[in-house]
Amino acid sequence: MATLRGVVGTDEFVGLHTPEIGQIDRALVDECLVSTFVSSVGPFVTRFEAEIAEYTGARHAIAVSNGTSALHVALVLADVRRDDEVIVPSLSFIATANAVSHAGAHPVFVDSDAATLGMSTSALADMLSTMAPTDGGLMNPRTGRRVAAIVPMHTLGHPVDIVGICAVAARYGVPVVEDAAESLGSFVGERHTGTFGRLGVLSFNGNKIVTTGGGGIILTDDDALGALAKSLTTTAKVPHEWEFEHDAVAWNYRMPNINAALGVAQLTKLEGFVDAKRRLAANYRAAFADVDGFTFLDEPEGTRSNYWLAAVRIDTDDRADRDRLLRAANDDGVQCRPLWNLLSEQQMYAECECGDLSTARALVDSVICLPSSPRLAS
Ligand SMILES: *Cc1c(COP(=O)(O)O)cnc(C)c1O
Repeated sequence: MATLRGVVGTDEFVGLHTPEIGQIDRALVDECLVSTFVSSVGPFVTRFEAEIAEYTGARHAIAVSNGTSALHVALVLADVRRDDEVIVPSLSFIATANAVSHAGAHPVFVDSDAATLGMSTSALADMLSTMAPTDGGLMNPRTGRRVAAIVPMHTLGHPVDIVGICAVAARYGVPVVEDAAESLGSFVGERHTGTFGRLGVLSFNGNKIVTTGGGGIILTDDDALGALAKSLTTTAKVPHEWEFEHDAVAWNYRMPNINAALGVAQLTKLEGFVDAKRRLAANYRAAFADVDGFTFLDEPEGTRSNYWLAAVRIDTDDRADRDRLLRAANDDGVQCRPLWNLLSEQQMYAECECGDLSTARALVDSVICLPSSPRLAS
């Protein structure tokens, strides 16, 4: 506990990740309120989309109501249909699997890699090698269903081996949809996470590095998919001065202008947040360097992580050790959290197919996420 308190530099309660709301956030939200354009139309949405496209290098960025709805629509745009299968890491937040279900499809779970915390490229290759290529696509011979997409996730902001995953996926002709909800500000080489797959998604929930209160974005370089993403998330209304004509059964998943106003304000501080979180990560790394039985989780080689959540791995295979530390830290007012319980062990997904999950299981038992708000960096 002394190690943690030493890094965060306060005796007060410390949350896991709290939004940084300041003068510019209040000013732009107030500007939005004064304009009365608080809802589904307004200039902040367009500005937010343009700024995210510019920052990530994606040709198109479509703002939506949250990261889960972004992932749902991205899967539909990748042509995931009812009764298809989608390969996802078992170690992820529930939204990754729920979006697959919302698209009418079934998740198939694969293992994670201890170095990236994300989908293991070799576990993916092993799973794909059991599938049968047919004229109608890649089929799962055990279920008779089509494997329609692969959804890697950049865990805690650390980039997954997305280049390797995309190469394996391309060999089988299966599209990749990146769950980059946690990795705004994380790059592989010069390229932003979420721009490697056919589509990618970001989240702007209150606990993410940049928040719009609630929000998400769909990224794609494909012009047709970009236009469809905008249409399908905004009721598919045919543009006209007054007529209400719609050309598809679509969603009302748009991001309200008032949320986008907060997003535009937050984006002015994104680089500062990333710098602060990387400094905080360095402080944790140094503090834990001399503590036996703890390993700070570093960004994978060749990547720049936003260190959305800094984390340590404890040298144990007994979840009770993890829970004792979580109990002590939380009782002391230092909010620490475990990784998610495996998706394949959640009751809704317990019957789904999965590969060997031994690394993911070991990670759940041994990783502790540390308070990571930018303000904690010294
Ligand atoms: C936050 C998050 C999402 C999306 O969450 P929303 O709360 O719907 O914005 C999706 N996947 C992962 C891995 C996340 O962490």
